Amino acid sequence: MTDVRVRFAPSPTGPLHMGGVRTALYNWLFARAHGGTFILRIEDTDQGRFVEGAEAYIEEALAWCGLSPDEGVNAGGDFGPYRQSERSELYRAAVQTLLDQGLAYEAFDTPEELDALRKAAEPDVFQYDATTRGQLRNSLAMGAEEVAALKASGAPFVVRFKTPDQEEEVQFEDAIRGSVSFKSSVLDDKVLMKADGLPTYHLANVVDDHHMRISHVIRGEEWLPSAPLHVLLYRAFGWDHPVFAHLPLILKPTGNGKLSKRDGDAGGFPVFPTNWTDPKSGDTWPGYREQGYAPEAFVNMLLMLGWNPGDERELFTAEEAAKEFSLERVVKSGARFNPDKAKWFQEQHLRNAGSAAHVEALLALAEAQGVNWTAEQCHAVLDMMLERVAFLPVIMETGWLFEAPTDFNAKLVRKKWKEETAGYLHDLATALDGVDDFTSENVETAFKGFLEARELGFGQVLLPFRIALTGEGGGPSMFDFAAFLGKEATLDRLNRGVDAVLALKASEEG
Ligand code: GLU
Repeated sequence: MTDVRVRFAPSPTGPLHMGGVRTALYNWLFARAHGGTFILRIEDTDQGRFVEGAEAYIEEALAWCGLSPDEGVNAGGDFGPYRQSERSELYRAAVQTLLDQGLAYEAFDTPEELDALRKAAEPDVFQYDATTRGQLRNSLAMGAEEVAALKASGAPFVVRFKTPDQEEEVQFEDAIRGSVSFKSSVLDDKVLMKADGLPTYHLANVVDDHHMRISHVIRGEEWLPSAPLHVLLYRAFGWDHPVFAHLPLILKPTGNGKLSKRDGDAGGFPVFPTNWTDPKSGDTWPGYREQGYAPEAFVNMLLMLGWNPGDERELFTAEEAAKEFSLERVVKSGARFNPDKAKWFQEQHLRNAGSAAHVEALLALAEAQGVNWTAEQCHAVLDMMLERVAFLPVIMETGWLFEAPTDFNAKLVRKKWKEETAGYLHDLATALDGVDDFTSENVETAFKGFLEARELGFGQVLLPFRIALTGEGGGPSMFDFAAFLGKEATLDRLNRGVDAVLALKASEEG
């Protein structure tokens, strides 16, 4: 393969939707898989849609995801500038070569005139093309003198691409979809350069992909209809076009259609990688980062929205995925987003990273909450809790980890707390008091010895033990937890728990 150079080319018209991040990810993976270069190009030619802060948001979101570009506005590179608004000269020169060859033309039709044509054509759709351009106000239909006079008078004009006069089949190979073909007659004479002298997306995109030596254009399916025009533009310029690969849409969790911001609002899940605050309204939309997702989990989730390794594996680091990534394994049909699955990826990543990886973070969370845990204690808490949560802060919402419970699950108490239970727990406390080295193993041995001596079953004592220590019916190993609390606190909770439960039962009966 020739040098692989791919680009992610967002327009800074707002925050990056997770579909955009997936496009960036697949480009990044493809570059890594082939020892290539990943470029970030900012397509900011549409001044009307420019949004303050959007470009910085894109850079930051990509950095959070670990998808930093090899070339780009911040990264630099030999093919800059990487912002289209700084490349106007290049587009002007390119358009001039098309005009000189008669492959593009100047059009003076005003927006009002075009509107009137559209209205008049209804219910058909008016198209500026080979069949209509001869009757319109452009440099192909008018004499050179008229054109010169109009220009001299300062009349605004656009430059349009001249689509083929004769209908032909425009065909190209898409790396994901295979052979794609369109009839040239479906294309209109697209505007390449606007009246303000700025290029449209189509012109700037093709010119830049050529000048930046882009080998593969990997982008969302919504750009597939533009691809035939791009193929014709490359031909007009006399350039080879890059390989195209159009990624499937990301679909809403249920029903038809593309995942949108509204689905996120309705379903209570983020559609943006990081929080986004609209500079105009001040409204903030949630991001995966601020919801506590690890970037690795978010990226893994996006990876699996449209790609698979050909077997059942789902958990990948980006580096692992890069070793296997290929466009052939990208699916053609839409990929349905499932917010529960996103959470599942987060759980898996949290667990698989292991306790040690989270000690620092938990220390910080504990400290912020005024809980004085040491690193060792944080590690022990993580050993107990990592399997049970999807997000670290949830651990700090687990009150019984750092203070004796005051609330006891009344329903459970009613069902499981028998006459004799309090007596068992008192005796258990005595047995545990005899344990010198209060490790999980020693607590377990003492506990089992106690059951054996009293000929009691596990269930008769373990659940009340748990209720006394945590107030709840489920959680980590109570031997681990007792060891974490230490002897004194364990015995204290046992005794307090017994008293509290007795009071609860008395109040329920009374
Ligand atoms: N600027 C376009 C966008 O916002 C780029 C499309 C492409 O990759 O060609 O998605």
